This record gives sequence, C-alpha cells and structure tokens, in this order.
Amino acid sequence: MTRLIGVYGASGCGRGILPLLREQYPGAELLFIDDGQAPGRVNGQDIVDWTAFLERKNRDKAVSIAIADSQTRQRLADKCAAADIPLVEARAASVVQMDEVAIGPGACLSPFVTLTSNISIGRCFHANLYSYVEHDCVVADYVTFAPGAKANGNVTIGEHAYIGSGAIVRQGISIGAGATVGMGAVVTRDVAAGETVVGNPARPLIKD
Ligand code: UDP
Repeated sequence: MTRLIGVYGASGCGRGILPLLREQYPGAELLFIDDGQAPGRVNGQDIVDWTAFLERKNRDKAVSIAIADSQTRQRLADKCAAADIPLVEARAASVVQMDEVAIGPGACLSPFVTLTSNISIGRCFHANLYSYVEHDCVVADYVTFAPGAKANGNVTIGEHAYIGSGAIVRQGISIGAGATVGMGAVVTRDVAAGETVVGNPARPLIKD
C-alpha cells in the first residue's frame, strides 16, 4: 500500500514544505492535515483533519509538522507519538550538511540551508530558507530559524528559541530557552531564557 505523508499545517509554512516531501518521496501520497481549515484542496493537495488522517488505512503513515509556532509543534509531535505515527524529516535537495551532524526527528530543512560539522540538533527543528548552523553548535528541541538566520560556531540554543529573519548570532554565544531574537539582530552577548533581543548590537526589548 502507498506510503501516506501528512503535512501538518496547510498555511504558509506547510505550503513551503509539502513540495520538498514530494521531491524526496516520489511514490508517496501527500496531503495536508489541518484542524483549523475546512477540508478541501490547496495547491492541488487534499486538506483533511486529524481524525480523517487517522482513519486512512495506509499501513505506512508519517507526519511532517510544518507550523512555525514551536509550542504547537511540540503539542502536535506529542499527539503523533501518542498515535504511534512517526515524524518524517523534510529536507530540500539543496541542503548542505557536513560531518557529524546529529539531528532529531521531524526537522524541516528549507532550500539552501547549511549545517556544517559537529553539530547537535534536537526534535522538530525548523531551518527556513538560507539559514545556517555553523560548527559545534548545540541546538535543543523545537528551535526555529526564520529565513536567513545565522548561528556561528559554538553557539548553544535552548528549546523553543526563535531566531528571526536575517539575525546573526556571534560565535560562542548562548541563547536561552524560549528566547526570541528579532529580525536582523546582531547578537554579541548571551541571551537569557525567555528574553527578547533586538537591534545591532542586540539588546533586550523594553516594552512601554
Ligand atoms: N493548525 C492546526 N492544528 C493546530 C494548530 C494549527 O492544524 O493545533 C493549523 C492552522 O489551522 C493553520 C496552520 O496550522 O492553518 C498554521 O498557520 P499559520 O499561518 O498560523 O502559521 P505558519 O504556516 O506560518 O506556521
């Protein structure tokens, strides 16, 4: 029976991930799973809800969680695990990966992502277009790199951290769990857990 791959999330992120899986798994049947959108079609693919996906009889089913919000990714990953449905990695053909890279299940690696050598990455990592992770970085679970986000060597990133578009993190810096690095920020000092930093050099965001 045909392999069935569900792309969880039929919005912007999902529509950028499903074509990668189509290229990776030419024989597989692909569809979107979405709890918030009415069943229908987008970009020529069916959208179904979770229940309908579970009801499909294919023996070999897998899910790619293509949703930028990391807490949602974790919740849906737990739901997949509870239903015994494995996560599949989506990886563009143009991704460059060098030596000794350990990467957890369920990553979404968009076109032109580079992972150099001796890197450890956790579950459901999202590396958007043109982002990179340099040598000896340690990236925890459910981390998100927006397009063009860059982590130079020996950077440590805690779970659920978000690195915004075009931001750059200097060599050796530590980014705490749940921290947010704003678009275009240049991070030259450690960022505490839960903190939001913006600008060049990046400083904590003071909300008035
Ligand atoms: N979604 C879902 N189940 C959830 C949470 C979100 O199916 O538990 C869907 C939601 O209906 C939406 C998509 O995931 O269609 C998220 O889209 P959004 O535009 O918010 O974000 P992005 O595509 O950029 O991640």
